[in-house]
Amino acid sequence: MSGPVILPRVIRTRAELSAALETAPRPVGLVPTMGALHEGHASLIRRARADNRTAIVTIFVNPRQFNEVADFDKYPRDEEMDLRTCGSAGADLVFVPGVDEIYPPGFQTSVRVGTLAEPLEGVARPGHFDGVTTVVAILLGLVRADRAYFGQKDAQQLLILRRMAADLGIGTEIAACPIVRAPDGLALSSRNARLGPEQRAAAPILRVALTAARARYGAGERNGEVLRRVMRDTLATEPLASPEYVSCADTATLLELDHVSGAALLSMAVRFGDVRLIDNDLLP
Ligand code: AMP
Repeated sequence: MSGPVILPRVIRTRAELSAALETAPRPVGLVPTMGALHEGHASLIRRARADNRTAIVTIFVNPRQFNEVADFDKYPRDEEMDLRTCGSAGADLVFVPGVDEIYPPGFQTSVRVGTLAEPLEGVARPGHFDGVTTVVAILLGLVRADRAYFGQKDAQQLLILRRMAADLGIGTEIAACPIVRAPDGLALSSRNARLGPEQRAAAPILRVALTAARARYGAGERNGEVLRRVMRDTLATEPLASPEYVSCADTATLLELDHVSGAALLSMAVRFGDVRLIDNDLLP
């Protein structure tokens, strides 16, 4: 790395944000995050930087989207490091609100998307997506961004947010960015830091399972259950991996497919001890 990183301007209140937006050149691109930023987040920020005249990152560990208090408490937080990452990826402004700034006293509104929020992550994490859609609706309302950037890593989240934006007439374009992976194939995630060395060595099995299913699909297999079995069988070769779900679903409805005729979303959640990892791949 060469040269000092220029730290972006940090904003902590709704009022400061609204004042800063008055002079921010448009279009404005927004990258909502929960901090603990890694190269996956940086790729979203670089994309927002490249597509827009102002790039804004939000860092907010949203209590409403954690269904386990312990997970919220253990969520890694390092603002100084995060600001450096934002700066080197080209963010102009970073909005780091306190909980009361997002949910002011008397707050009582929530945004809930219907059946798309029920399967997959919705089963294991009740209320999670209501927390996500509510906070993203607030952030989109506060920033009034022209574009907002989300990772394909959270494929169901992306689909739900697109649905919400269309349903509520939110004018922000929801842009999807590809999954960024470690060299061994593990999708980058803030939770990876909590894996022990043996778990970390085992964790690329998610990607191996997705790749095995893709290879079977490439060889002509179109039976959804067979593709799910290929993923389950692959995960079963790793004793440290406890699969929570394995799915081959319709990309529009997220319902499980018996037969793959068009696009399909392969996805899974797998536990390594108390660390829960997700990954996915889009067919074809
Ligand atoms: P988070 O801070 O975990 O809420 O993630 C903020 C955004 O970064 C979400 O849109 C995620 O989908 C995205 N993201 C997280 N990990 C990755 C990754 N490995 N590759 C691409 N995007 C990611």
